[in-house]
Amino acid sequence: MSSYTQLVNTSHPLAPDYIPRDLVAVNIPFDAPLGCSKRMLRRQAAEAAEELFDRSLSMNLSLFGISGYRSYKRQIQLNTGSPYVAPPGASEHQTGLALDVSCPAVSLELIEDFANTAEGQFLRDYAPLYGFILRYPKGKEKITGYAWEPWHIRYVTKSLALYLSLTGMTLEEYHSI
Ligand SMILES: [Zn+2]
Repeated sequence: MSSYTQLVNTSHPLAPDYIPRDLVAVNIPFDAPLGCSKRMLRRQAAEAAEELFDRSLSMNLSLFGISGYRSYKRQIQLNTGSPYVAPPGASEHQTGLALDVSCPAVSLELIEDFANTAEGQFLRDYAPLYGFILRYPKGKEKITGYAWEPWHIRYVTKSLALYLSLTGMTLEEYHSI
């Protein structure tokens, strides 16, 4: 079982046969059919996501899960050379700790405009309180190797998420200390 704070990127890929053993369906609004593996995260991340979404509901926001767990095989099918799509093994979605999120104001799309919505701003401000970081921030593209993704959150535990948000560090920078 990989750790909650594990670094996964093109130079730190997961094994092709790595499948988290504690995947569960996340009980949040999802733009994916019931039973779809996209709706799954590791148990602790799933519980944190449910608390984060409950908080957003209490503020009358409308967040939707778009994509959680993604298998190595599925990542092979998706790998089109797009700057948003990681090569197989290098996707955080294989950890079961990453979740793409969107909202109706941007038609549930994964686009930069999401950052300007009330939901996108909520995600940026509140995700760390529940153990998630915005994993691919603006201005850190050279360090993460990824384009800015205001919709992609990664569970790293509450203490690390707060530490990273207070210091402005990426997971890459944290692991190279
Ligand atoms: Zn993502």
